[in-house]
Amino acid sequence: MAATPDKPAPAVSRRRTGRHRGEGQWAVGHMTPLNANEQAKRDDDGLNVRTRIETIYAKRGFDSIDGADLRGRMRWWGLYTQRKPGIDGGKTAILEPEELDDEYFMLRVRIDGGRLTTHQLRVIGEISTEFARGTADITDRQNVQYHWIRIEDMPEIWRRLEAVGLSTTEACGDTPRVILGSPVAGIAEDEIIDGTPAIDEIYRRIVGNKDFSNLPRKFKSAISGSPLLDVAHEINDIAFVGVEHPELGPGFDVWVGGGLSTNPKIGVRLGTWVSLDDVPDVYEGVISIFRDFGYRRLRTRARLKFLVADWGAEKFRQVLEDDYLQRKLADGPAPERPVQEWRDHVGVHRQRDGRFYIGFAPRVGRVDGTTLSKIAELAADHGSDRLRTTAEQKMIVLDVAEDQVESLVAGLEALDLRVNPSPFRRGTMACTGIEFCKLAIVETKARGASLIDELERRLPDFDQPITININGCPNACARIQVADIGLKGQLVLDDEGNQVEGFQVHLGGALGLDPGFGRKVRGLKVTSAELPDYVERVVRRFQEQREEGERFAT
Ligand code: SF4
Repeated sequence: MAATPDKPAPAVSRRRTGRHRGEGQWAVGHMTPLNANEQAKRDDDGLNVRTRIETIYAKRGFDSIDGADLRGRMRWWGLYTQRKPGIDGGKTAILEPEELDDEYFMLRVRIDGGRLTTHQLRVIGEISTEFARGTADITDRQNVQYHWIRIEDMPEIWRRLEAVGLSTTEACGDTPRVILGSPVAGIAEDEIIDGTPAIDEIYRRIVGNKDFSNLPRKFKSAISGSPLLDVAHEINDIAFVGVEHPELGPGFDVWVGGGLSTNPKIGVRLGTWVSLDDVPDVYEGVISIFRDFGYRRLRTRARLKFLVADWGAEKFRQVLEDDYLQRKLADGPAPERPVQEWRDHVGVHRQRDGRFYIGFAPRVGRVDGTTLSKIAELAADHGSDRLRTTAEQKMIVLDVAEDQVESLVAGLEALDLRVNPSPFRRGTMACTGIEFCKLAIVETKARGASLIDELERRLPDFDQPITININGCPNACARIQVADIGLKGQLVLDDEGNQVEGFQVHLGGALGLDPGFGRKVRGLKVTSAELPDYVERVVRRFQEQREEGERFAT
């Protein structure tokens, strides 16, 4: 079943649509676009912009780009205009979008499942050096992001990426975004089930398919069969989490409707057990429900989490089974409690084939083209052809023979990529922030990096898991609500009453089997300059008052 403006009103019972008849849901006949975003998507599918980029914009330059393409459809191919340098955070909400637009782009390369070969990583590094002024960030969705991209270079960048099996297709926009996958899928000794075949089949079936390229908003997904719950499944629109069913064996527990930003929600379990083979069908059913029943009137209510909150898990499952799958799913168990708190796979670990994987930590996901090329060389020189990115802004080299481990660790450490990082380097993430993001109010990446260095100097003996997530605005790209210490960028007043960059503090958020959002500490705002002092105080207090086994969120 496929609802599109040309094929309205899918064969779903009208009685199931609930009270939100006026939310712009296609399935109840709201086929007329109710806002400018919906109109732009109706006017032309975002995927079609690729041809215009290659045949017109790349040849004629930035000024030739149509406005609706520039600030809308480009995203379907992973491109956002970046922030013009030198505009301070106080102007973010005041200026018109075109005043914030630089003529350069951020480009996101999707890395489904976080899987890379050394050859692919080498190409990513070369593109960074040649076309992106050396920039390359590892994101908390396992992607790589470049900056300073010129539209003229896009045909050549796509040629190089696609020649090695990488893509930017639907890396942004109201689309099925990158599918997160366990970074140790297929190799970990403790794996319940390897979700990789399902990631590949979903990519083949859904990504770039025009039946799913006009969603109400973005659709985030995650699949992991690791008992460490290593893909932040609780905050995705759909997530498949490995479980062992007492009769049916290994399979997946299904979660829907998670998401952060404003109105954050932890996903809900549908209570089903899904086999590996059935994962793509269930994914397709859920994304179809989102397309057909998702709320399109207001973008602030357009994520799947609002529909799930209104319907509840029981009704959602019923619609999925009756109207989209035409069969019942088996009931299934919830995931077990993870045995460790770090979910990033940093350090040296034995694979089930006897070789080793080595996870390492840059600072807040920031690397560069030269470093990525060196990582690829190092891995290849030590007999590895495979790497992974993680949902914690980290990376992993796979398939390292025992006698190569020590030398590879030394090589990574020499590049300042820590295999045994401090808890602060390991647990701190930062979003893009004001350096490049048009929505940002404050600087984040450099702030995060210097915070790590400062905390390492001040608290050298601290050895507990801790997460410090830094956002440049009220959005949640770095997951502030689920961090031990979440820092939301905003302008604050310093002691002299001047408006300066700072953060609203959220404390005690967590993922895992007891997920919850950090409490906004009433009135607690710190200036960027005060940040190291503040975090040091919080960590010292936690250290002094902590009871055995207690973690930050409790
Ligand atoms: Fe930009 Fe805000 Fe997202 Fe940071 S959290 S990348 S500032 S939109």
